Amino acid sequence: MTTNSNVWAFPEALCPDCSTCNKPIGVYQCIGCGKIFCSRDTAGHRQLLRSELHELIHESEQWNNYWHEEARRRQKVLKTKQENIYQQIDDWELQAIAKIKQASAEARENTRRLFEHHYNLLPKWTLLDVSALRRAMETDGFLETHLSKWKIQLQRLKGKINTFITDFIRLRMVDSFLSKLVIDGEYTAYEAIEPNEDPDTEVLVPPVHLMVPIDGDFTPYNDGELKTGIHHFRYKSKCIFFGVASKKANIDKDPWNTPSTYGWTGDDLVYLNANPIQGYDGYRSNLELGDTYLLTVDCDHKVIRLTNERTNEAHVLDVDPTKCPLPWQLNVRFLDHVQP
Ligand SMILES: [Zn+2]
Ligand SMILES: [Zn+2]
Repeated sequence: MTTNSNVWAFPEALCPDCSTCNKPIGVYQCIGCGKIFCSRDTAGHRQLLRSELHELIHESEQWNNYWHEEARRRQKVLKTKQENIYQQIDDWELQAIAKIKQASAEARENTRRLFEHHYNLLPKWTLLDVSALRRAMETDGFLETHLSKWKIQLQRLKGKINTFITDFIRLRMVDSFLSKLVIDGEYTAYEAIEPNEDPDTEVLVPPVHLMVPIDGDFTPYNDGELKTGIHHFRYKSKCIFFGVASKKANIDKDPWNTPSTYGWTGDDLVYLNANPIQGYDGYRSNLELGDTYLLTVDCDHKVIRLTNERTNEAHVLDVDPTKCPLPWQLNVRFLDHVQP
């Protein structure tokens, strides 16, 4: 066999890498996770999701069985606790009533004794024994000294009657006599989970643009323009600049020199209208690690967000529309592209 050097060869068919086998034959992209698969591994990806769902169904059913018993057990615990509290309230009520009855009885007895004492005083104070005076009158045997002595005695008696009092008794409340029983408690805030209320389950996640540079001809720029809505772009490794610029601006070969550029790059640099600011808003670059990044371009709110999917670290930039007017275009640069 001789090699014919005149044979015209088709260029190799290069596709993005398959997420499963890593061969450059990826032809399908999952709209759920954005991963790319080859023809053979697409079914495997679906099978993985199906077994995950199967596991979830199994786990949910197990939960239902467990909760059925657990709810019954907790109901019993609550019932016992409630009965115990009711018992304590009943006990307190009976003790309080007994205490009140005893205190009332004591108060009545003390009242009775006090009043009896003061009733009995009345006749002792008011009755005058005049027999001695009459005998003195009959015998006529008395002197001025006796008269003045008897007068003093009468005055003293009258004086005693003047001191008649009724306020010998007082009612006094003893605060600490009876403790009031009060029930305190917490109401646990609980919001029922309505599966259909979760907006994430209703709104389809917008498709993710996976951009993986395959060869020198690969263009990292989005050919279209970004005018409205929220767009997600996922990049895997070798990126050295993530950002946007106005469509009206001339994209320079050097991303840093493109006017209106907003974005992130290495050396902790953040570009605001093409002006580099180190460590802006706490930004620390670690692009050299080659992680997967998600660039979110929100045209509606004039915001771009860069998320490192490994560390979950996210940075947000407000884009000033007076300096970077819509529509925008991506200004994302790859290592190969800048240093060919
Ligand atoms: Zn594959
Ligand atoms: Zn998927």
